[in-house]
Amino acid sequence: MVRVRFWGTRGSLATPGPTTLRYGGNTSCVEVRPADGTLIVLDCGTGAHRLGQALLASAGPPVRGHLLITHTHWDHIQGFPFFAPLFVSGSQWDLYAPGGRGHHLEATLAGQMEYTYFPVTLEQLGAAIRFHDLIEGELSISRTQIVTHYMNHPALTLGYRLESDGVVIVYALDHEPHGRAQPGKGDVGPPAAGVPTMHREEQRHIEFLAGADLVIHDAQYTVDEYPKKIGWGHTPAEWAVDYALAAEAKRLALFHHDPLRDDDALDRLVELCRQRVVSAGGRLEVFAAAEGQVLELEGQGGRAAPRHRQVKAEVTDGVPAVAPTVLVADDDPTVVQLLVESLQPDGLHLLTAADGETALRIARSERPVLMLLDSHIPGLEGVDIVRSLRGDSDPYFWSVPVVLMTAKAGPENTAAGFAAGVTDYLPKPFAPALVRARVRAWLLRGDASTGRRM
Ligand SMILES: [Zn+2]
Ligand SMILES: [Zn+2]
Repeated sequence: MVRVRFWGTRGSLATPGPTTLRYGGNTSCVEVRPADGTLIVLDCGTGAHRLGQALLASAGPPVRGHLLITHTHWDHIQGFPFFAPLFVSGSQWDLYAPGGRGHHLEATLAGQMEYTYFPVTLEQLGAAIRFHDLIEGELSISRTQIVTHYMNHPALTLGYRLESDGVVIVYALDHEPHGRAQPGKGDVGPPAAGVPTMHREEQRHIEFLAGADLVIHDAQYTVDEYPKKIGWGHTPAEWAVDYALAAEAKRLALFHHDPLRDDDALDRLVELCRQRVVSAGGRLEVFAAAEGQVLELEGQGGRAAPRHRQVKAEVTDGVPAVAPTVLVADDDPTVVQLLVESLQPDGLHLLTAADGETALRIARSERPVLMLLDSHIPGLEGVDIVRSLRGDSDPYFWSVPVVLMTAKAGPENTAAGFAAGVTDYLPKPFAPALVRARVRAWLLRGDASTGRRM
């Protein structure tokens, strides 16, 4: 049996008050307790404050635990400096978060606790803390097997799939559907499983959730609200239902509630989502996660496993010794400039091209580690460049990530490209922060698949 307790369910900003009493106002924090008693905490939003107090009151110091952080946006780490077990000497904590290529959780958390922001520094905490920088892959904590998977968000974000005692829990927060369906054009949301035209990253997301006993999913918006929030990195609740249905999950906890959604509005959202399940003929159980709610999950076994990663999630890479070369090709100079400005802070060596032939020539001569190509660039079409590279005699070009940028990223427009070897589609217009996070994900995946080490 695995016990789950929600200590914070809100997204973006803590919203205590009379209108959020039932579902809670604290930001993301979930306690997971497998049968062996191992303490696993998912995210350290403001909900972690009460968890910390409860841990000291029940078990007493010292406390041994593992904290998995999806990403370091404030709503996921704001409870960290107020998490009491960290102040107790003798306590031991292992902290995990997305990292690699010179990005370290320790530095980010230390930044949050600099003198300007907080009176106690990270080094002054009494607990012994070990930091673990993660990429997509696998790790284990005691008897719990964990698979990590990148979300689509303006910061590099990992979802966590935990399997323990035959129970699978997937924590998938701060994620925007990759296809970014065009509102009002019919084919909204992730299509059903098995549809061959599905955006490849959507398929991977569904595989990540596959067969889970409990999916805790970002459900910040509604489909009606989404058009004004494109690029903010969140899922409409109705699409969270579609994901969970396609993944044949048993339960879906709507999570990361919008700060503006009060208790009554959340009740209506749950009703809407339940109707969606009924319309689809599904048996998925849907509820909105409420602060203080406890679930006890028994293992069922016999579920679909996600694609086996066979990659260790933990990395110890430093800053790359040589700036990785990335090719950006678009005939619109404002797009090129926006990409260059967005990516330069990450220490990349950026090459640019304004037409297809130039892009292909630069690709062959400079061998970039990643290419971002406009799908309708003058001269060669983006997909033709991909075909040419995938057919090259040099094996380097068979797998190097090539991403096409397009205003039409719906499944009907991307299927042929994926079949031709396109790595991913980046929908236009894009938010610079989202591109920056996607580029980091592609580079880290590239490092892992090629064994490239910095
Ligand atoms: Zn968040
Ligand atoms: Zn976030």
